[in-house]
Amino acid sequence: MTGEFAVIGLGRFGGSIVRELSSNGYDVLAIDSDEERVNEFMGLATHAVIADTTDENVLKSLGIRNFEHVIVAIGENIQASILTTLILKELGVQIITVKATNDYHEKVLRRIGADNIVHPERDMGVRIANGLMSQSILDYLELSNEHSIVEIKASDKLSNKSLIDLDLRAKYGVNIVAIRRDDDVLISPQADEMILSEDILIIIGKDTDLDRLERTLRSR
Ligand code: ATP
Repeated sequence: MTGEFAVIGLGRFGGSIVRELSSNGYDVLAIDSDEERVNEFMGLATHAVIADTTDENVLKSLGIRNFEHVIVAIGENIQASILTTLILKELGVQIITVKATNDYHEKVLRRIGADNIVHPERDMGVRIANGLMSQSILDYLELSNEHSIVEIKASDKLSNKSLIDLDLRAKYGVNIVAIRRDDDVLISPQADEMILSEDILIIIGKDTDLDRLERTLRSR
């Protein structure tokens, strides 16, 4: 077999990755050792196979090395997750993304060369908490431990002014990289662009600076 994506482990996390990729038109090979789980994905994924991925010969016979990106979504069985990742690495899979269950799991995955390690529950918790703490931040994307991109609704606090008038760069050290207006996105808006109250501002900056901006908006 050959293709772009293979997903190993069809629990809630792996299953939703298969669904999303498939509904966006990507070819996906879905793998699980549990027959019932595999049956659920028969008509959905391009191929769905029952296989124990801790067996190197099984992965070889599936031609897993021909897949560009393999997602290991085995969570609870840490040993199976690690062994599967190790075999994928040895077989030369280009990109391996693995779901980690805890910090020790992550440490081992890093050592054996997993390219991306995700903690779905923890990451989503952080995301939701940030949304709860802030009334004006609609969404946020963590770029590093110190930098993020946030989406803020302009509302009457930031509207009817041009970017020069607002001068967020000088006052807060943050930059408006784009403005979402109705169905349009203005990338790198000009300094004289007037902000409308329904605009969504996409702002990049240090977390501490973004936090300062958000607090000011809240207190006004
Ligand atoms: P989630 O939190 O994503 O819902 P889960 O708790 O339902 O996950 P996990 O135990 O994390 O399930 O495992 C996900 C899937 O991985 C299960 O469907 C399980 O059958 C499958 N799995 C476990 N070990 C292997 C293995 N060695 N080879 C293939 N699939 C496996």
